[in-house]
Amino acid sequence: MSKKKSASANPADMAAGMPCPCQSDRLYSDCCKPAISGKQPAPTAEKLMRSRYSAFALGLASYLIDTLAPERRQPGERGALKRQFRSTRWTGLRIIDVQAGGEQDRTGTVEFEALYISAEEPGRLHERSRFRRDDMGRWYYVDGDAKFLSGSAN
Ligand SMILES: [Zn+2]
Repeated sequence: MSKKKSASANPADMAAGMPCPCQSDRLYSDCCKPAISGKQPAPTAEKLMRSRYSAFALGLASYLIDTLAPERRQPGERGALKRQFRSTRWTGLRIIDVQAGGEQDRTGTVEFEALYISAEEPGRLHERSRFRRDDMGRWYYVDGDAKFLSGSAN
């Protein structure tokens, strides 16, 4: 590892002093960044969900792949994510419901609504996501029931 300091083009670093994309009303550096940087893995399913949303908003493919359940990773996952980053801008997150997913749980579900703009059109993703915690205490996104709705308001 080089200790040389260089101007970083890493969006995860550039966003450090900004409000967290997950709309927790906290700074990114105090909210999702510790999980995304690998400093402190998300302790709960909700934190993992929030950090994955922030990674989508910031275009961080590696974190999204790392936090996807290993059996769910597809060849070409990175390319598919990068195409999605180019076509979709994530603009808001609202957590609706959390079941289990605590620091002592093995599984959890998080229901949320995420706002996005794609091809100039606002849309909403309503999803109930399932998460799993492994023996090392790391949470992974397993899958979810997703509904895409058009329009930004409800
Ligand atoms: Zn956050």
